[in-house]
Amino acid sequence: MLTALEQYDPQIYELVRQEGARQSACVRLIPSENYVSRAVMQASGSCLTNKYSEGYPGKRYYEGQQVTDLIEVVAQQRARKVFKAEHANVQPYSGSVANLAAYLALAQPGDTIMGLALPHGGHLTHGWKVSVTGKIFKSMQYGVSPSTGRFDYDQIRDLAKKNRPTIIISGCTAYPREIDFDIFGQIAKEVGAYHVSDIAHISGLVVAGIHKSPVPYADIVSTTTHKTLRGPRGGMLLCKAEYAEKVDKSVFPGLQGGPHMHTVTAIAVALAEADTPEFGEYARQIVKNSKAMAEKLLECGFNLVSGGTDNHLILIDLRNKNIPGKKFAKALDRARIVANYNTVPNDPAPPANPSGLRLGTPAITTRGMKEDQARQIASLIASVADNIDKESAIEQVAKEALLLCSQFPVPDHFIIPNKENRIIS
Ligand SMILES: *Cc1c(COP(=O)(O)O)cnc(C)c1O
Repeated sequence: MLTALEQYDPQIYELVRQEGARQSACVRLIPSENYVSRAVMQASGSCLTNKYSEGYPGKRYYEGQQVTDLIEVVAQQRARKVFKAEHANVQPYSGSVANLAAYLALAQPGDTIMGLALPHGGHLTHGWKVSVTGKIFKSMQYGVSPSTGRFDYDQIRDLAKKNRPTIIISGCTAYPREIDFDIFGQIAKEVGAYHVSDIAHISGLVVAGIHKSPVPYADIVSTTTHKTLRGPRGGMLLCKAEYAEKVDKSVFPGLQGGPHMHTVTAIAVALAEADTPEFGEYARQIVKNSKAMAEKLLECGFNLVSGGTDNHLILIDLRNKNIPGKKFAKALDRARIVANYNTVPNDPAPPANPSGLRLGTPAITTRGMKEDQARQIASLIASVADNIDKESAIEQVAKEALLLCSQFPVPDHFIIPNKENRIIS
């Protein structure tokens, strides 16, 4: 495939090669990123990209669905199995569209939705003002407790009672602690709201049974497929049978046209991979690595939101270090450690240059790194902070990060094993 690309379009080939090299020669800590397997990559790059399949298996609007119907049914069955859900829709193009589809399955424009505010770790699509979800719905936002950095469920209950939302959203994009979906479900019941749970970040941990699943406690569960779940970029909705028709109609024809069948195919492969003991082991190691990294960061004098982590991600509050988030993220990038700047709860700084840094361990764990390497990376991060204006020291960290990458190459079955993925320095 890449040989054809190399022959036909050397310019783009070269850029793909460079990105492959970057991904193998950097310590990737963005918690929403991962490395997919070669099998997922092959399915995603397959001839299924050529097919239009508007509708659902058995009810399509185009002919020629002998194979696509079989593939989508397998993807649905695997999704239902690993998430223990009554119904699965595997067509959403991404997590954002999946969320919008979930809301529109249960509420009308103008109704009230209540989600976690973005600066507190919520996602844009949980009703933040610049997102369409904050414009077509009346959006109420809850936050985390300023003292603990965690949910104060009594406060969320009070807010729900006062505002009587149609939908309460649980789930986050930058919350380092386990979420009590059970309580969110209770609160929703008490106020007569629907409960939509968005597990985009933690779905791999949920499948592995490490974090409690929201499936029994939510009316609709939304997820991406490309974060800890380690599949292709895509989205998915899970729900009880009673909402199946509403969910399906909301995705198509409500929001989308033809599903991306190459992605649906790759989702099926990723779900089979997730349904193995090896994946369970992988997911457990993600959390072990994250906890080890958090402990070392605390030892190095970093403040962590909520004081630590229960999951795959860590949120550093940099205010005591006096380093702006953006400056730190850029210095780390030069040191071959890739993370993202992020708001912290009640951040006094603007979102474009916030006071936090978000880190995560899904990708390094796919490379086979364990607690020792997680602690080593924490030390490298600390040395960048200590030398934030000293470029020679940052270069030294980059050398150490590269060495670590060469000791833990992306496993062979996780990349197309030819020259473009070789480590370059
Ligand atoms: C990543 C994320 C999404 C959005 O997913 P996209 O595929 O980028 O649209 C939605 N919700 C949460 C909680 C996320 O973390």
